[in-house]
Amino acid sequence: MRLTELYRKLLEIHGSVGKWWPGTPEEIAITAILTQNTNWKNVERVMENIKNAVKGNNLLKELDSLPEEKVAELIRPAGFFNIKTKRLKALLKFLKEYNYNLSRLRDLPTHILRERLLKIKGIGKETADAILLYALEKPIFVVDSYTRRLLKRIFNIELNDYDEVQRLFMTHYPEDVRLYQEFHGLIVEHAKKFCSKTPKCGVCPLKKECCHVSQMNGFS
Ligand code: SF4
Repeated sequence: MRLTELYRKLLEIHGSVGKWWPGTPEEIAITAILTQNTNWKNVERVMENIKNAVKGNNLLKELDSLPEEKVAELIRPAGFFNIKTKRLKALLKFLKEYNYNLSRLRDLPTHILRERLLKIKGIGKETADAILLYALEKPIFVVDSYTRRLLKRIFNIELNDYDEVQRLFMTHYPEDVRLYQEFHGLIVEHAKKFCSKTPKCGVCPLKKECCHVSQMNGFS
């Protein structure tokens, strides 16, 4: 299989997942940080806590007005809550410069926005790109450990550098927000359902065209 066929194949297997990352743009900016090193159920619990505690129109502004201890208490179910509170507060401080208005950020070019997000303490490339793609609808491909795993197993391509993996996908697929949003979602779905740490190749629909399987069978 060629890399350019992966999206269509995953779509056939899993069906459309649409935008995939749930929530409003403001909620996505928050959940992009909360989801680090935890599962989505915990993130949902935290978002419930936040929505119950913050009643105003601007979720980001209201959350920023709460003291750090209160934010830490709200996000406790997401784990690493002290670190995540600091990261969240740092992001909110940055957003304050734009009056907590994400539309104002959208007007900036993607590479400038990315540079600015990466300067925020605790925001790495994966989180910055998730915010760019899902909250700000900028055409940038999100790379995570599942992306690297699928690349390695299906195509036998091993790249450790984040930007290299991103470039590979972005040179093989057109810069398209909807496509990148759904593609990342499909990669995660596939990794969770079939290509888990111990892969379930026997039941995986990609088994006939996957390098990992042919290597296991001694064909390459
Ligand atoms: S065949 Fe196995 S290694 Fe290949 S994608 Fe499916 S689960 Fe992963």
